Formats: sequence, structure tokens, C-alpha cells
Amino acid sequence: MGPAEQAAHQLSQSISRRMSGPIQDSMDMLADAEFVAVVCHIHPDADAIGAASAMVMALRQRGIRAVASYGNDELPAKSLLTIPGWEFFVAPGDIPETVDTWVSVDCASPERLGNLRERMLGSRRLIVVDHHDSNTRYGTVNMVDEDSESSTMVLLDFFEVWGIKLTRDMAHALYAGLLTDTVSFQFGRSRMHTAAARLLNKGLDPRTIGAQLLEGHPFEYLPFLGRVMATAGRVPGWADGAGLVHVTISNEDMADVGHDEVEAVVDVVRTTKGGDVAAVFKEYEPGYWTVSLRSTEHIDAAAVAGFMGGGGHLRAAGYSYAGDRDGVLGALIGASEAAAATIGKAGA
Ligand code: MN
Repeated sequence: MGPAEQAAHQLSQSISRRMSGPIQDSMDMLADAEFVAVVCHIHPDADAIGAASAMVMALRQRGIRAVASYGNDELPAKSLLTIPGWEFFVAPGDIPETVDTWVSVDCASPERLGNLRERMLGSRRLIVVDHHDSNTRYGTVNMVDEDSESSTMVLLDFFEVWGIKLTRDMAHALYAGLLTDTVSFQFGRSRMHTAAARLLNKGLDPRTIGAQLLEGHPFEYLPFLGRVMATAGRVPGWADGAGLVHVTISNEDMADVGHDEVEAVVDVVRTTKGGDVAAVFKEYEPGYWTVSLRSTEHIDAAAVAGFMGGGGHLRAAGYSYAGDRDGVLGALIGASEAAAATIGKAGA
């Protein structure tokens, strides 16, 4: 057993026995990689950007050329530019032909690779790093740990076995994903706090990073919230009485706020007790909706999102829909029976 294998073996005791295989396979594949493209999901969040950035830093530490990207052309939310590593990102069309190995991070299905989908699926060297319950295992190697709070937590384990020296910037990028995917350390195992302590000990200030990622909204956020919250409705009988609370954000409503403000709405909606599931319908393009689902106790949000063509986690999931407001709302209300069927199922 070599040193790397020994380390993998030791960690298989503490991390998760079933992850040691994919961790070893990833190390083997990266051992002869020369140029890696790390791709996170379209419309990236802090976990996606943080994981991609940290992975590029780790690869470069290993002397491997690496760039980051995601498969659509728009800039991410402004708050995400505070995560170290944005300078590693290139437009999807600018990923060199000489890339020999691909890594996808935080991306549950090939659809979320956007316009890089064909190129990545065509490669026989694709490592999938993720923590979504709904991950479809589309990689050559699938380093998917559903027990992990964030994709950055999967990487933190991987880096330890791989022998990466954590830098302050790497810790910042990993912490960004952990902080936001746990909704400020509310969803996860106690291990998330141990990991956070390790990362913060690299010289990070939790208040600064928290404010950068979760606050700093423009004044327009307040009138926006007023308009949006006025659309709140509920369906108490939905899913055998579990109940649904919903809010709609039309394309017009979001004209004078950014992505950060639109994405923050669900965390307000889910704080009320009107129903087990909180849904926010976001019309990012006229007639095209992204739907965020949060469940409190009974409903499996990932299963409901899956039924609607999307995916995610037990308590947080999402999907897309093309149509008008009545259509998008009616479709979810109409999924009442499918949602009820998830009550009492494993995990829910
Ligand atoms: Mn994530």
C-alpha cells in the first residue's frame, strides 16, 4: 500500500467507507492529467463557485494546469465574486481543446452542464464531484456523497486524502459553499462545525464572509420584497394536508434587483408555518420559470422536484417550467398526490 492508498484507507474509517473507492479512482485519473477543466452548474451558487475555485487551486498546487467554467454565458450573482478564484473562470467557449480531463462540481445531472454537456459527456475522463441525492452518476468516476452538506465538504475530504495543503483562499472558497448550503449551519451533521472550525482557522472572518454572501442587498430589495410577498398564497389541503405556501416573482418584479435578491426570497417564505413545503416561482426569462422548493418535515422536496423534471436534496430542491404564472402554479398544485406519496418514505 502506497502512502496515498494508506491515507485513503485510514480516512475510509472516518469519512465514509463507500467514498474511498471514488476518491482513489479520482486520484488515479488526476495522476496523469495535464490540463483539467472544472465545471460547475449553470446559474451557479456559492457552493458551485466555491467548489470549482478550490478544485482549480488544488490542481494548480499539484502542478496541473486548470481552468474553471460553467455552461452559460451570464455573470453570476455579485456576491459570488467575493469568493477567491473568480479569476480562474473562463467563458465556456474559451475552454482550450487541449483539456484532457474534466471535473464537474455540484452538478446533479448533465442538463445542468448547459452548453458544455456534449463536450463533457463525450470525454472518457470525467470526474463528478457532488452531494445531491438526485445525482445521476454521469461521470467516469462519481465522487458523490449524499451525506455531505456541500460539494465543498466532499472536496475537503478529498483534499485531505490527496495531500493538498489548505491555503487561506482555498479555505475561504470551501467555507462559502458550506455556509450557504447548510443555510448558515442549520442543515447538516455536527461534522459541519468541525469542518468550519478547520477552515476558519486558516484566518477567515465568519462575519465578513457571511455579510458578503448573505447581506449587502440594495435598498430596492425592500420594495421588491413588498411586491413579491403580496403574491403569497397557500394550499392547506395539498399533499394530504401537508400544505403548500407559495410566492411568485414575475420577470417584471425582478427588474430592479439582482439574482442575490431573487434567491433570498425563499429563505423568507420558508420561515412561516403555512405549509410543509414553501415554493418560490421565479420568472428569470419571460415565460421561463425556475422553481425553488423547501420542505420542513414531511415531504421529500427532491422527489417532488424530480417528479417535475428537476432534482435536489430532501429539504431543498428545484426544477424549471415553461409557461405562464397560472401554468407553473397549477402544475405544482396538481402534483399534490405525487407529493403526498413521499410522506413517510425513507429519509422524509
Ligand atoms: Mn451544493
